[in-house]
Amino acid sequence: ELSSADPLLNGLNPQQREAVEYRGPALLIVAGAGSGKTSVLTRRIASLIRGREAWPSQILAITFTNKAAAEMRERAEQMLGAATEGMWISTFHSSCVRILRREAENFGFTKAFTIYDSHDSRTLIKRLIKETEADTYGLSVSGVAGKISRLKNELTDVDSYSRNANVNDPTEVKFLEIFRGYTRALQAANAFDFDDLIAQTVFLFRAFPHVADHYRKQFRHVMVDEYQDTNHAQYALIHELTRECADGTPGGSLTVVGDSDQSIYAFRGADIRNISEFERDFKGAHVVMLEQNYRSTQTILSAANSVISNNFDRKDKKLWTDVGDGDLIVGFTGYSAHDEAQFVVDEISALHAQGMGYNEMAVFYRTNSQTRALEEIFIRSALPYRILGGTKFYERAEIKDVLGYLVTIANPADSLAVRRILNTPKRGIGPATETGLQNYADTNQITLREALRSADSLGLGPKVSGAIAKLSGLIDEATALAESGPVADVLTRILEETGYVDLLRATRDPQDEARAENVEELLAVTKEFDKNNPEGTLIDFLTEVSLVAAADELDDASGTVSLMTLHTAKGLEYNAVFITGVEEELLPHRMSAGEPGGPAEERRLFYVGITRARKRLFVSLAMSRAQFGQTNVAMPSRYLQEIPTELIEWRQSPGMANGRDGYQSRALNARGSRYDGGFGSGELGGWGSTEGGWNSLEASPKPKTEWANRVTNKIRDNGDLELVAGDRISHADFGEGTVNQITGEGAKRVAHVKFDSAGAKKLLIKIAPIEKL
Ligand code: ATP
Ligand code: MG
Repeated sequence: ELSSADPLLNGLNPQQREAVEYRGPALLIVAGAGSGKTSVLTRRIASLIRGREAWPSQILAITFTNKAAAEMRERAEQMLGAATEGMWISTFHSSCVRILRREAENFGFTKAFTIYDSHDSRTLIKRLIKETEADTYGLSVSGVAGKISRLKNELTDVDSYSRNANVNDPTEVKFLEIFRGYTRALQAANAFDFDDLIAQTVFLFRAFPHVADHYRKQFRHVMVDEYQDTNHAQYALIHELTRECADGTPGGSLTVVGDSDQSIYAFRGADIRNISEFERDFKGAHVVMLEQNYRSTQTILSAANSVISNNFDRKDKKLWTDVGDGDLIVGFTGYSAHDEAQFVVDEISALHAQGMGYNEMAVFYRTNSQTRALEEIFIRSALPYRILGGTKFYERAEIKDVLGYLVTIANPADSLAVRRILNTPKRGIGPATETGLQNYADTNQITLREALRSADSLGLGPKVSGAIAKLSGLIDEATALAESGPVADVLTRILEETGYVDLLRATRDPQDEARAENVEELLAVTKEFDKNNPEGTLIDFLTEVSLVAAADELDDASGTVSLMTLHTAKGLEYNAVFITGVEEELLPHRMSAGEPGGPAEERRLFYVGITRARKRLFVSLAMSRAQFGQTNVAMPSRYLQEIPTELIEWRQSPGMANGRDGYQSRALNARGSRYDGGFGSGELGGWGSTEGGWNSLEASPKPKTEWANRVTNKIRDNGDLELVAGDRISHADFGEGTVNQITGEGAKRVAHVKFDSAGAKKLLIKIAPIEKL
């Protein structure tokens, strides 16, 4: 029993405390953003260890990112003042890799298996589509990759799929052929793709109950953060892990925490029902709800509450805080994405000048393509920044080339890796030779790597067979090195022997120079790995590389602004948050329009973004954006309308987009006029009048031209309207009110109006739908 004076319980509210102290088979903690779900999980772990109710090795905590896992471990360590060694705090994927490495030999893999990232999977699928001429059936690489991924997340393997496949549908038959070929190729390469990591672990547990029992007995306490985003395979995994053992030993206790309003992975098969059905599936589950938010100001929370309340079919919960209202949310409309980026950078500089650290600020966007404009302005302004997730360092061609050597050494069965390095750097091994080698391997039922040893028997010219023999010798030599030496030594030898970096440098192409630097960066990563893992093997290194998940970074650069997608932002918090590109087509993303529940999921994504902010929130958009290869007029996101106007101060409002004098001239003024309040700060200006448009848009997205026309039709011109303080006016949406004050001049005159029922608003007189009474 912990006493209430125990630091572990210090400062917890009664519900949080209950969640930390509850002991029973199943506990569900449902709560809104920032209410302490993750903190409570961490304290629960600490309290189990502290109370000697569990050994560290009996704890399995599953988090969303490796970064979150590291944070949880660190906090638990702080609380316990002791090492947490032996505890499994990791992502679904890394837990499964650990299990699979130990158990792979049970089902025809070796523990050196390679993990294929989505790029590798696509390369394989592309080849299969070509070989089977499936493109004539309308099958695309991304279509097939997406379908295979979805099937695996549903735990449907190729055999069970084929049992239900429609044999009269030629496209389906073709797909099945590819799915089968893909499955075989992975098996032959001793490789798992990302979705396999989870699915195969579940299959393993089902096929080998004694193996499963071993883990069930080990993990007496299983905890899952961000439970709302688990897909079926992950759900099944949790279920398998916490079941009763064959000898009657009861399963371990299960604690899950989640917020259905933050479910943003339906496209990956995440299923909100996992939360609603928890009580049914885990009998006797205890439920705790948390409502007090400890992260954000009331203004930010009220905006979040208001936005999310537009989703149907949800349990209404209102977040509240006792930290007070704080600053207003700031809105900004740029002329272009660059203009918007400039606003972000200016605000960041201003906040920094006021003492906020760069690492306490983050910029979010819906799609990675938005980083280009942001990066340009960040670089130009010499502000330190880093991109979380999006850099895809390990997806760069030069990195994959070099890793190809390491993978070949660790897992010689992986022919994808062998093909990659065969003629990289160029050594005169052309496609015909590659095919010859592959055929030789197939005929003799050996791996491609083995075939390299027999190049002599292929009747190739002396130059080519010499090159192959040299490559094979290098692989042998490096393999021997890898057995005992550090990873950095292996890589150094490969770089020396192949001359990869020198060749890049020799081209004098600045792009190649950057590539050479990347390879050197990889070398630095291996050195770091060797230092941190004196016992670490090449396989360990490659595992770490494959599992660098979205929110993880090569180095933990502090003192930089973090840029990331809204998806990556989940679970994180920052003092100041900028949500950029809050536009139709981006947020909600145009791909979501046709999806059932698409716009609702996009709204949850916006909600996730808003609720990351502790003190300051900025929302911004651009009036035109270059995207999908062309520059388009961008429309403010429907979700902006859902933030109560009194919570947001528009430095430059979307209303300006209605001006007759054209986007351009206003935009060019934008920099200078930003703070003059001229564009109706505090009010959406002309947008109030397009309410009908918003609603119908929500129900059925209209083609943009029609939508744009609707807006232009509504343009008013009150340029001549004379208003003075004390005048009574009537507004199309807000009803009647009294003018308190007029600021600005000419086309930028703003009326500060106290409406009788709608509260205080600021209106751009020129375009607001108002009449003098
Ligand atoms: P999300 O839904 O975004 O994942 P969460 O529910 O997991 O959020 P936490 O990240 O655990 O919330 O907590 C949000 C913030 O509130 C953290 O900074 C945490 O330290 C703080 N916090 C949580 N509980 C308390 C408390 N009782 N007293 C003071 N601060 C708290
Ligand atoms: Mg959390």
